[in-house]
Amino acid sequence: MAVTQDPAPPAITFTSTSPATGEVVGTFTVDGPEAVAAAVARARRAAAWWAGLGFDGREQRLRAFKGQLARRCDELCELVRRENGKPLEDAFVEVLVTVDHLDWAARKAAKVLKRRRVPSTLLLANHAASVEYPPVGVVGVVGPWNYPVLTPMGSIVYALAAGNAVVFKPSELTPAVGRWLVDAFAEVVPEEPVLQLVTGFGATGEALCRSGVDKLAFTGSPGTARKVLAACAEQLTPVVLELGGKDVMIVDDDADVAAAADAAVWGGLSNAGQTCIGIERVYATAPVYDRFVAEVVARARRVRAGADAGAQIGPITLPAQVETIRRHLDDALAGGARALVGGPESVRPPFVDPVVLVDVPDDALVMREETFGPVLPVTRVASADEAVERANASPYGLGASVFGRRRAAALARSVRSGAASVNSVVAFIGVPGLPFGGVGESGFGRIHGPDGLREFTRSKAITRQRFPLPFALLSFDRPERLVPVLKRSMRLRHGRR
Ligand code: NAD
Repeated sequence: MAVTQDPAPPAITFTSTSPATGEVVGTFTVDGPEAVAAAVARARRAAAWWAGLGFDGREQRLRAFKGQLARRCDELCELVRRENGKPLEDAFVEVLVTVDHLDWAARKAAKVLKRRRVPSTLLLANHAASVEYPPVGVVGVVGPWNYPVLTPMGSIVYALAAGNAVVFKPSELTPAVGRWLVDAFAEVVPEEPVLQLVTGFGATGEALCRSGVDKLAFTGSPGTARKVLAACAEQLTPVVLELGGKDVMIVDDDADVAAAADAAVWGGLSNAGQTCIGIERVYATAPVYDRFVAEVVARARRVRAGADAGAQIGPITLPAQVETIRRHLDDALAGGARALVGGPESVRPPFVDPVVLVDVPDDALVMREETFGPVLPVTRVASADEAVERANASPYGLGASVFGRRRAAALARSVRSGAASVNSVVAFIGVPGLPFGGVGESGFGRIHGPDGLREFTRSKAITRQRFPLPFALLSFDRPERLVPVLKRSMRLRHGRR
C-alpha cells in the first residue's frame, strides 16, 4: 500500500520593502507559535553550551562578532539604508555605537558578573557570603525599526555577554537587518544556535512572550508594551521595557546659543525625528529665546528630506506615522502655533521636511504625545525652573538635554528621566558604561553598562558556614539566654538616640 504524505502547507510569508522606493528588500516567514516554540527549545540547549564556555570563551566569540560588524560595516549600512531609509552616514554612526557596546560588554562581563564576596555581619560572622550572577537562560528580544541595529543589539549584546541564548524578533519593517545580524553571529559561533531569528508581525512577538523564555526585552511603543506585559504576566516572565519618549531640551540663560541650536536641530530632526531619545520639545529661557530661535530656523532650513545622497534625512519608515505627524502639525497650527520653517506642505509622503514651530499651546498633541517626525516645537519660558516643571509634566521620561553653564548639571538632575546630556544631545547612549532606560511611560529596566549586564542575570546569594558557633541562633536548640543578650546588644548598637 502506497502511503502518500500531504505536502507541508506553504509557509506564509511577507516582504520588507524600502520606505523610499518600495523596492523589495527581502521575503520572510510569518513565524507562528510552533516555529517560535521550536526556536526557544533549540535556544535552551544552546544556552547551556554558551553558559558553559565561561566568560573567556564568550568574550573571544563576542570579539569575533565585533570584528565582523567592523569589517563588514559598509554592507550592513547599505542594508540599513535600503530597509529603514536613513542616510548612509547615520547608519554608520548607528553601527559604530553598536560596535562600542559590543566591545564593552564582551570585555567587562567577567568583571561585573563574576562571583564576589560580601562582608557578613557580627551575628553571622561565622558565615562567608557571596553573590553571583548566573544567566537567566533564554532571552526573547522584540525590536523596533527606527534603529534596527543599535536598539535590539542593546539588549542582545548584553544578554549574550551575560551568558544567555537569544531569540530575536525584529520589527516587521526591518527583518533583513535582523537576519544579517543573526547570520553574522552564526559565522563566528557556528556550533550552536545561540542567537536565532524569528520573523513576523505582532502575533509572532506575542508568541515569543508566551513561549516560556526566561526574560523578554521589548523595545517599542507604550501601547504595545502593555500587551507584552499582559502576555508575559501569564507565566510571570520578567520584562525589560524600552519605550518612547517626549524628550526635552532646556536652554538656560548662560547657554552657548549656537551650540544649543545646532544640537536641537540635529537632536530633533536627524533620522527624520524617528529617535526614541530625539528632541521633541525645546524650552528656551527669555534672555536667549530670540537668538536661539533665529539660529534654529537658519540651521533647520538647510536640512532636507530625500532619498538622494545630498539629503540629510530619509523617509518616514512606518507609512502610518506620516498621518500622526500630519495630525500633530494640523492640531498645533489650529491651536495658534506658527511654523517658522516648513508647514503642512512639508508632509509629502514618504518624506517629511523639517518643521519648526513656536507659540505652541501646552495642550497641543505635539507637546504631549510622541510625534516621531522632524517637527521641533520651541517654547519661551521665564526661567529654567519653569522649563523643568513643564518638562516633568509629561508622563514620559527617557532622555533630556540641558544647555547652560552654572546650573546645567543641577537642572539635568531635576528632569524626571532615565538619562540626560549636558551641553550635548543623546551622548549618554554612546557611553557603554552607562545604563539606558526610562521612567513612567518610557518603560523600566535597564540595558547597557553594568546594570544592563545584570538585567539579564538572576543574582544568586550564597552563604557558607565556616565553623559552628557554640550558640546556634537559627535552631530550636537556641539557648534561653541568647535572645535577651542579643536584645541588649541591639539596643546598645542601634537604639541610642
Ligand atoms: P511597536 O510597539 O509598534 O513595535 C515594536 C515591536 O513589537 C515590533 O517588532 C512589533 O512587531 C512587536 N509587536 C507588536 N505587537 C506586539 C504584541 N502584541 N506582542 C509582542 N510584540 C508585538 O513600535 P515600533 O513602531 O516598531 O517602534 C517605535 C517605538 O519604539 C517608538 O515609540 C520609539 O520611541 C520606541 N523606541 C524606544 C527605544 C528605547 O530604547 N527606549 C528605542 C527605539 C524605539
